[in-house]
Amino acid sequence: TETNSANIMEQTFQYNAHNYHPLPVVISEAEGVWAKDPEGNNYVDMLSSYSALNHGHRHPKIIQAVKDQLDTLTLTSRAFHNDVLGPWAKRVAELTNKDKVLPMNTGVEATETAIKAARRWAYEVKGVEDNKAEIIAATGNFHGRTLNAISMSDDPEATKNYGPFMPGIYQAAYGDAEAIREAITANTAAVIVEPIQGEAGIIIPPEGYLKEVRDICTENNVLFIADEIQTGLGRTGKMFACDWENVVPDIYAMGKALGGGVMPVSAIAANDDIMNVFIPGSHGSTFGGNPLACAASMAAIDVIEEENLAQKSLELGEYFANALKEINNPEIKEIRARGLFIGVEFNKPVRPLCEEIIEAGVLCKETHENTIRFAPPLVITKEELDWGIDKIKQVLSN
Ligand code: PLP
Repeated sequence: TETNSANIMEQTFQYNAHNYHPLPVVISEAEGVWAKDPEGNNYVDMLSSYSALNHGHRHPKIIQAVKDQLDTLTLTSRAFHNDVLGPWAKRVAELTNKDKVLPMNTGVEATETAIKAARRWAYEVKGVEDNKAEIIAATGNFHGRTLNAISMSDDPEATKNYGPFMPGIYQAAYGDAEAIREAITANTAAVIVEPIQGEAGIIIPPEGYLKEVRDICTENNVLFIADEIQTGLGRTGKMFACDWENVVPDIYAMGKALGGGVMPVSAIAANDDIMNVFIPGSHGSTFGGNPLACAASMAAIDVIEEENLAQKSLELGEYFANALKEINNPEIKEIRARGLFIGVEFNKPVRPLCEEIIEAGVLCKETHENTIRFAPPLVITKEELDWGIDKIKQVLSN
């Protein structure tokens, strides 16, 4: 059978559950910021797999590290030691300035792990009565798709007909630190917040919010969990989005770009007072901390530092946002940007616009109905960005 885009999309639709509604483009090859379809059309990738591709597609240094590791050792499970986990953990601990890390695979496993850590900490360190621990999440959050993660969600699409949900979870309006203060009780274990909400539409909280949340948590002996899965590792123009307010959370949850766009790698990082609640048998993952993932992740962290990707994101993000602000289109409601993490909100659904922009050669996707997210790989050059901006302008200026 012919492997053209139409056939591939049809087969994908027939044999896969319809839990996604992908845009009508097939990617069959990619390098750096460029993706290609089976017909040979080129696109600049401005979604970056929801920021998992901060390094671009198939970064040569990461690919080489993975190839070398493939020829040496791929999987041991945690039943035994492997010789890559230690060096990787040290690297991530130093990057986050925390005592220890706990490796998992996907983002949602990192948020799950953070919540488990917080609950144990509440019982064993803070002294909360058995089974009474509470978690405060923010409205509009996205922490992943497991039952625990959606128990924190207020998105009807993500939660409908999945009950009963996890008890002990409360919500405070995102961006309102006082709402968190009011939601805290003697049983509160943790507050979990995305420093910028990605899936909600690149929602940047008011200045001072993160700092206030930090202070409120400290005052009340409550852990501050920062979900930096999408915002971390350079995406917003700083290594972590919390750095914008010089805030240090008690627990970092990381994922996506931590695997360099090659392996699923996630982790939490925290100090010993929290991390030591984990004892043998209390938590784990067959693939978490596997040598192949650790090799990819170490190379990924090297690349972020060596190529100053956070600084690049800061500079090019400002340039990109300014170019978008020049577009004269009365249907644009607001442009929100931190580094190369940009949301363009319209006062109408943007799916048809995304399809037109893709047709013009730039991969992008709506987040919720009315916002287009632009988040190209951080390795993008100014020339490549200009190429993309030109196409975007062509569509959005009409
Ligand atoms: N947390 C945040 C902030 C995210 O953006 C995402 C993914 O979009 C997740 C958690 C879940 O990550 P994963 O899809 O790898 O489970």
